[in-house]
Amino acid sequence: MDKQLGIQKINAAGHLTIGGIDAADLAHQFGTPLIAYDVAKIRQQIQNFNRVFEEDQVAYEVSYASKAFATVGMFQVVAQEEGHIDVVSGGELYTAIKAGFPMDKISFHGNNKSRAELEMAVDHQIGVVILDNFYEIQLLSEILAEKDQTMNVMLRLTPGISAHTHKYDQTGQEDSKFGFDIQSGQAEEALQQVLANHRMTMLGIHAHIGSQIFEVEGFVMAANKLVDLAADWQAKFGLNIQVLNVGGGFGIRYTKDDDPIAPEMFVDAIVKAVQKRVALRQFNMPAIWIEPGRSIVGPAGYSLYTVGSRKVVPGHLPYVTVDGGMGDNIRPALYQADYEAVLANRAADENEETVRVAGKYCESGDVLIQKQALPKSQPGDTLAILSTGAYGYSMASNYNRNPRPAVVFVENGQAKMVVKRESYEDLVSLDQDYI
Ligand SMILES: *Cc1c(COP(=O)(O)O)cnc(C)c1O
Repeated sequence: MDKQLGIQKINAAGHLTIGGIDAADLAHQFGTPLIAYDVAKIRQQIQNFNRVFEEDQVAYEVSYASKAFATVGMFQVVAQEEGHIDVVSGGELYTAIKAGFPMDKISFHGNNKSRAELEMAVDHQIGVVILDNFYEIQLLSEILAEKDQTMNVMLRLTPGISAHTHKYDQTGQEDSKFGFDIQSGQAEEALQQVLANHRMTMLGIHAHIGSQIFEVEGFVMAANKLVDLAADWQAKFGLNIQVLNVGGGFGIRYTKDDDPIAPEMFVDAIVKAVQKRVALRQFNMPAIWIEPGRSIVGPAGYSLYTVGSRKVVPGHLPYVTVDGGMGDNIRPALYQADYEAVLANRAADENEETVRVAGKYCESGDVLIQKQALPKSQPGDTLAILSTGAYGYSMASNYNRNPRPAVVFVENGQAKMVVKRESYEDLVSLDQDYI
């Protein structure tokens, strides 16, 4: 007998369930802190994106921005769903190779790809390198000449549009460290360099305007700019831009204060805007690529912790401390990200108090949630923080020499560990004696 708690499911025992399994059982079986993913939600979101493109009858790719959560198991799920991935480092590319991910479905991003990383991309013949700066064009052309190889490329552009969101998340304004500026002519100079190189195939243009964005307006403005540029370049260079890559950044719900539209509705708005603009500019409809990260894995992830100590501070909210914190989820400490939690083993109980959920790390800023209503918790209870699937584990650290948590995938009532918990031995495995 499942009943809904917001968007969460509770079983007959009054426990939160994840992918059909009791969250408290997951905590006991695999230990805490634990990151658990409801894999059906990951698949569903990819399929929702696909469906909108199919309905709008446009060629497309959904390229999962793997920096949100990049592991072998995750890449295998994306491969099963026939998606693409973005990588931003040799490490992410290596993970994709280990996962058996199809190399021709990989885009390589980054504002300072090294020679070794670009060589790896060329050796593995990945789908496309998204060129970010002039130095990179030079490096890649040297590598292609040395190896007598070719590569598809896109140009990352800064369209001069900043989304209304947290300032750390803005990447579309003109003084961004990413991409070629359109206004000043850098983009056109980059295009000419690519066109002059017979080893590079110009596939498309790219813009990513930010992250955790709630309004479609910025995406529509950026998409229109890309169409205009593609139309201008067609007129000037006889060039047929095949792909408009509009990036990711679709906002998700972290707390009850967030009220975003469904992620695929951003895509619908973008596609319709592009179709309109393309008709206006009498241009061939290009394929549209998107790069969602957070919206694919964020809502699917749960951080499970065991409740430990409590500190009561007269005149302030009490601290309830869990056995993880900024080492497995740095977002609250880094940029005041908000989350909601439930007491997983008493998810049907009435809330009795409002607390701060603190982590165990030696930083005053290590508070996972500043204000959370909960039933009165006891040491040993399982606390679940919701929607932690994006930029949590992928930013995890060993601060205070705490081992990083295990990750489990749960689907159809089955749980499978996809990342082992680090051991103390793992923690010292790279250390070398000095004396
Ligand atoms: C981070 C990033 C994304 C994904 O952003 P989300 O907010 O996770 O959807 C997509 N494209 C690029 C270029 C990025 O840097």
